[in-house]
Amino acid sequence: MESDPYTTMGGGVESKVVPPSKNIPEISSPLGEVKAEDVSILYWVLKNKIKSEKGEELDFSDRLFLLDILGDWSQKIVWKKCSQVGGSVVFNIKSFFSLMKMGWSIIYTMPTETDVQEFVKTKTNPLILENKHLFPGISTDSVFLKQVGKRNLFFQGTVSKSAAISTSADVTVHDEISRSDQNKIKQYESRTKASKFRGKWIFSNPTTEKDELDVVWRQSDMKEWFCVCDNGHSELLRWPESIDKVRKCFQCADCKVELTREQRRTGSWQKTRESDVSGYHTSHLMAPWITAEEILKDADGDQEYFYNFILGEPYNPGDLSITRSFVLDNWTPKDLETGNWFLGVDVGNIKHYCLGSEKGIVKVGKFTKWEDLDDMMERYKPTLVIDAMPDNTMSRYYVERYQNAYMSFFQDNNTNPQQIMWWGEKDKQGIVYSNRNRILDHLIDYILKANCLFSMPSDMSMREYISHWLTMRRIKSTNAKGIEFYQWTSTNDVDHFAFATLYWYLAVQTRGQGHVFTENEKVPPAIDNSNRFVSFGSMLDSTDLE
Ligand SMILES: [Zn+2]
Repeated sequence: MESDPYTTMGGGVESKVVPPSKNIPEISSPLGEVKAEDVSILYWVLKNKIKSEKGEELDFSDRLFLLDILGDWSQKIVWKKCSQVGGSVVFNIKSFFSLMKMGWSIIYTMPTETDVQEFVKTKTNPLILENKHLFPGISTDSVFLKQVGKRNLFFQGTVSKSAAISTSADVTVHDEISRSDQNKIKQYESRTKASKFRGKWIFSNPTTEKDELDVVWRQSDMKEWFCVCDNGHSELLRWPESIDKVRKCFQCADCKVELTREQRRTGSWQKTRESDVSGYHTSHLMAPWITAEEILKDADGDQEYFYNFILGEPYNPGDLSITRSFVLDNWTPKDLETGNWFLGVDVGNIKHYCLGSEKGIVKVGKFTKWEDLDDMMERYKPTLVIDAMPDNTMSRYYVERYQNAYMSFFQDNNTNPQQIMWWGEKDKQGIVYSNRNRILDHLIDYILKANCLFSMPSDMSMREYISHWLTMRRIKSTNAKGIEFYQWTSTNDVDHFAFATLYWYLAVQTRGQGHVFTENEKVPPAIDNSNRFVSFGSMLDSTDLE
């Protein structure tokens, strides 16, 4: 028998222990006359056995991840969601609770008026009718307005000719914001000016655009669903690492042990950064009723659909898109060995490396133990470029210990913006600096021109190597001064092999082959390894830490 879903929830940010819906005792409240169901939406929902629009009692046992979202009263909430998780129902219930218990007025928007009509007819009105005792006096007559006393719940389409947004409210709820009129959404901000709460709750399946959903998500605390494996690792569910394509099962992204349905179901929300904006990201990976096999099948289909609706991620191929052929076209059965070895290492919990000659990549792989890197250093005696982030303790060790080892920092060259790659001098010897986005441009151009070949065996690791490249998108951004620039992002931050390749590329540049060093094709100063002095105390000033 499964354990009680409402008490086994992990230590999520807003986790609340809620008694099961049966035999809920009235909680004696320290607030005196205030009843628990007047202050706790979870208590209200469970005690009253709220029914869905289909007349079934709402069952959160497979959707424990919804409870925190339901009980979250942050002023700003953003939810980057996948399909099939019940987002609209959650925010409908929240809207009604706000209306009746908090005394708030709400504006609830959808992309178009047609969407609103369809939605209110098939979801909102049936919800009211199924739970009549909870919504006394709320009429289903009007599609666009529900009222309790003087409080209003407006339903509005953002694409509408009528100037309907002269109404004011305490909270604006924007359902499907990524498919809504973005200019109209901005105008809604003025609607809550008079309110003390001034709430703004937005949620949507993402699209291809860098829209408000994505922008606000990045400003938020970016909560992800973490699951604990049998070995005690707490890892967030993510594509593709959380699925084993061979065993067709979910797995711990760290130790690869299989994750059970129960382990996925009873995960917990954890912040991945600090912010006042409360952010949630849901994907099919955390839906216990969806199998790994189903997700793998979806992954082979239309990528835009897969990203937006299955992974709950934006899909943006950009104007310079990387396809499978990006690597496969440069694959060769020839021996690329020249006697010179270059090694690029991307650092994380798992280290990803690319080993090759100046002609291209011969071997790619992963390791977790640093001794494995020492073994490679002894065996191949390569020129090494290693990621100095997120923690440079170990990269320092390699720079100090080995002759041809460098640590990589990304930095813009403020004195000479044209220069995209340069070597640290004096007390910064052993560091290679580069402009992250521009050096990636150059590397990709370099590969597209077949200057880098691949001769690693066509196996799982090669497929994984390619999959990391496929997450890379070149997108247009605007800096604080309003100037547009292009930057490379990964759709899911699983880009380790792409960066390991970049470090290999930087290592190759130490030969002074001088493919590309600046926009003006300047050759870098030669490196004198005989007289290296690396002083780490002063090596890392704040500008190194991007
Ligand atoms: Zn594990």
